Amino acid sequence: MKIQDITSFLEKIAPTSLQENYDNAGLLTGNNNWDCTGIIVSLDATEDVVKEAIEKKCNLIVAHHPIIFGGLKKITGKNYVEQTIITAIKNDIAIYAIHTKLYNIINGVNGKIADMLGLINRQILQPKNNTLKKLITFAPVAETKKIRSAIFAAGGGHIGNYSECSFSSEGEGTFKGDAGTNPYVGKPGERHSEKENKIEVIFPTWLEANILTAMLKAHPYEEVAYDIIALDNKYQNIGSGLVGDLPKPIAETDFLAILKQSFQLSVIKHTALTGKMVQKISLCGGAGSFLINAAIASNSDFYITGDVKYHEFFDANGKLVIADIGHYESEQFTIDLLFDILREKFLNFAVLKTGIKTNPVRYFL
Ligand SMILES: [Zn+2]
Repeated sequence: MKIQDITSFLEKIAPTSLQENYDNAGLLTGNNNWDCTGIIVSLDATEDVVKEAIEKKCNLIVAHHPIIFGGLKKITGKNYVEQTIITAIKNDIAIYAIHTKLYNIINGVNGKIADMLGLINRQILQPKNNTLKKLITFAPVAETKKIRSAIFAAGGGHIGNYSECSFSSEGEGTFKGDAGTNPYVGKPGERHSEKENKIEVIFPTWLEANILTAMLKAHPYEEVAYDIIALDNKYQNIGSGLVGDLPKPIAETDFLAILKQSFQLSVIKHTALTGKMVQKISLCGGAGSFLINAAIASNSDFYITGDVKYHEFFDANGKLVIADIGHYESEQFTIDLLFDILREKFLNFAVLKTGIKTNPVRYFL
């Protein structure tokens, strides 16, 4: 198996177009054409993880965080990033980072946190726009069903929990091919009128090439007329953070105890308790203080994240409880998530979880 087989599969799970523009996800060292000898999954690709990969004869590290984040202008080993890159390159270790692509899907980093807390009725806390487009094409009546089915099979027509969503309206199309054409109906050089259906289907931007190929293959016309329109709608399953419900309301201190236990925390930093029962929970793995206002607007009782700054805690203002459980702690189960995704696909291949706890933060209790 090539490194490419694994990276392409991961791109299907979490497409590159979902990467935030400040991010540097993807293959950071190594080459997609290499044969893969094994995969190690970790949250951070530190030098210790690279050494572990060498020892365990795995030449691909699938990490959550990108070890190269800003630019690298010199690689002399003067800091931990450069040291890690040097060790990886010297030993032919490929490093792939998935990062914000995995934040922006509902079953990614945040879905895993929601699993750990048993949340139901899940939705993206802040859905993204610019992720949806509409395809409009014009089909002869008899071929409409076939073309629609081809678009659905390529991933078009999903809205929330509904699939195969489309709209068709009847009309009349006209065309005149020149002498060199071979029209499906009508004659070259003569204007032809044909009863057609206008088919409209919504699709996520990253499926555009697939959907166009499928539609063109199913369409009988020599020249197919179609429009692709960018939409401003928000995609409910794509975006930042997650909001969901506990199956039953519980007391705030009981919820904190569950949180502490599920994430094996020694301490939770949180704002004043409100005295209300807890049911609606917002969350975002990693540094999620940018979503505090979205969590408040969703009427959540709690917002769980990491890396909250002193002044940001004030934003809770009695409306909900902000709980900072630590950046690493909030994302620790991403290792299991990536492991399970890869293990399921590459059943008979060496996929390992790192044995190294890469959290640089310690607590003195
Ligand atoms: Zn993170």
